[in-house]
Amino acid sequence: MKVEIIPCLKDNYSYAVIDTKNNKTCIVDPSESGPIINFLEKNNLKLNYILNTHHHYDHVGGNIELKKKYGAKVVGFKKDFKRIPEIDIHLTDGEIWKEDNFEAKIIHIPGHTLGHICFHFYNDDNLFTGDTLFSLGCGKIFEGTYEQMFSSLEKIKKLPPQTKVYCGHEYTLQNSKFCIKYDKENKDLLKKIEDINKKLKNNKPTIPSTIEDEIKSNIFLRSDNESIKINLNIGGSSSLVAFSKLRDLKDNF
Ligand code: ZN
Ligand code: FE
Repeated sequence: MKVEIIPCLKDNYSYAVIDTKNNKTCIVDPSESGPIINFLEKNNLKLNYILNTHHHYDHVGGNIELKKKYGAKVVGFKKDFKRIPEIDIHLTDGEIWKEDNFEAKIIHIPGHTLGHICFHFYNDDNLFTGDTLFSLGCGKIFEGTYEQMFSSLEKIKKLPPQTKVYCGHEYTLQNSKFCIKYDKENKDLLKKIEDINKKLKNNKPTIPSTIEDEIKSNIFLRSDNESIKINLNIGGSSSLVAFSKLRDLKDNF
């Protein structure tokens, strides 16, 4: 399986998961149809499946047109069937979605929206996190509670460290500025920022990251760290309290 990054809209990433042997393709979160069609045509590919992490327009915007053009099946979370345009395959938490040679575990990760899921292609260590986990950040809490978002991120943290993280937006540089503000002494973070700047300077995406990198450098996965709590003036409080404070500060950053 090969993963290709397809930039869409202003700062969105859609992804193509390609089974090169059998010439089958999934698109994760098509923000719009144009760049996806260009990519498929340039690479001589047909589209078989559209996978949606959540219902926001910048993740499902291409569903209708792509389904019409290619007859692709739309795959998404069962409880969001009314909000995901043209959904065909209804998934539930913990289920394994298996079709052709594609195989992914569905993990329900509410917080950004109540029906947000991620797709874990465990055979290839690829994880599509939509707007829940970003590189060096996490999504805004629009529909869920702080607690839901916190425990969704805890679920993601438990995946194998080598797992590659493909998220919905190129927000990494801006996210890094927030991380460094409250986590100055983190050497892994400093190294990650160097790496990000190098990639951006060469017009490359900062994606994929890895679970290991995120656990070491993403402040939203480090709310159990005592020196971060002290920097937030809430030393001794719980990880959930620290996480919630970080989320609030980030909303106004
Ligand atoms: Zn979203
Ligand atoms: Fe988004």
